[in-house]
Amino acid sequence: DKNNGSSITADIQFLDASYHLHPFTNTGALNKKGARVITKGEGVYIWDSEGNKILDAMAGLWCVNMGYGRQELTDAATQQMTELPFYNTFFQTTHAPVAELAKEIASVTPGDLNHIFFANSGSEAIDTIIRMVRQYWAIKGKPYKSILISRENAYHGSTVGGTSLGGMSGMHKQGAPLLPNIERIRQPYWYGEAGDMSEEEFGIACAAALEEKILAVGPDNVAAFVGEPIQGAGGVIVPPANYWSEIQKICTKYDVLLAADEVICGFGRTGSWFGSETLGITPDIMSMAKGLSSGYLPIAAVAVGNRIANAFIEHDDDFNHGFTYSGHPVSAAVAIANIKLMKQENIVEYVANDIGPYLQKKLRDMLTDHPLVGHIEGVGLIAGIALVKNKETKELFPSDLDVGLICRDHCFDNGLIMRAVGSRMVLSPPLVISHAEVDELCEKARLCFDLTL
Ligand code: PLP
Repeated sequence: DKNNGSSITADIQFLDASYHLHPFTNTGALNKKGARVITKGEGVYIWDSEGNKILDAMAGLWCVNMGYGRQELTDAATQQMTELPFYNTFFQTTHAPVAELAKEIASVTPGDLNHIFFANSGSEAIDTIIRMVRQYWAIKGKPYKSILISRENAYHGSTVGGTSLGGMSGMHKQGAPLLPNIERIRQPYWYGEAGDMSEEEFGIACAAALEEKILAVGPDNVAAFVGEPIQGAGGVIVPPANYWSEIQKICTKYDVLLAADEVICGFGRTGSWFGSETLGITPDIMSMAKGLSSGYLPIAAVAVGNRIANAFIEHDDDFNHGFTYSGHPVSAAVAIANIKLMKQENIVEYVANDIGPYLQKKLRDMLTDHPLVGHIEGVGLIAGIALVKNKETKELFPSDLDVGLICRDHCFDNGLIMRAVGSRMVLSPPLVISHAEVDELCEKARLCFDLTL
């Protein structure tokens, strides 16, 4: 009940404010108002300690793809924890969950990306990519081929490697200096940055920036280009349709490895197992996390094709990289159960052919005419909505108004979680969301946009 709820809320908020430093948070400001206390989840809903039921259109943090409260995942964890809670894979040992999970992942990755290295977070997977592609070129006798190229406004995690590779200026300002040998090019944000260019012209111009950068630093010095198929944390930016094929051609031309950061796009989010398939990318190396275990336990992976795998396998030396919990047996058991559940429930087909198109249409039908909405973009169950002051000129609200945060707070108060990235509202609901729940999501979004006006 509400009174009991309020006292629980106050107790937890007190502990939280006294002892907990939150990630990506102005802790002083949060402590003054108190964090919302989340207590349970079921399906696409979460509840807070005040008893409010909230539709979680962010699937936690782009991760609870199979929804909350899946007994199959809990059972897999319990069983594995009872049998063998931990063993390492560093020193000539393995175990069934890690070996079986590698095979399960290989069964869904595109092309020949059948060799899997494990980590615990997306950031660790990205650090693994940075070290692996450089070591690959070192094995090939080209240690100077060490520069990685990424994009402005890309998010690749918050370790030193992930921060350096990412293109988030707010992160670059803190905890510097960043890693050397990382270069960035413009992002393919057609709605916001194309000016008068058509989508196709803009796709070519953004890809041409990669060729210019490669030539500027010298093709012999470039190890890899890294990109999210669709930028997620940058605001859900879907590139022009021709962008990735142009990028692919340029990488091939200069023998630059192509790395897809699939931490958000992987595991069905865009209506294919991986965003690379939806966007027409054939990567040499791929990171994944989040949806791999539907967020039930931390686990991440890097998948490589024969080209990279064979270089490491045939090179008679250790790869001096890994984490105590690389391939943790309990996380691996949950990830196996998660992939099996996804297959049993044909969830990728559901996103591709049914609920993905339904959400995309419903969002546009219900929100396009709203005075705040400048543009809606998205594929499958990921979408970004640009909020603007003026629909015709695309003029934005002053940034100190924080219109996105105002809208986000209205959402929360009205039983909906959407995330604000600047003035873009983003969403990526659990893949198991039903038609009726999509209707509820869109109705609540409309209401909250009205309240934000
Ligand atoms: N890469 C991408 C594309 C991400 O979206 C994220 C997290 O949102 C990461 C890497 C970092 O993952 P983690 O927070 O698990 O370290």
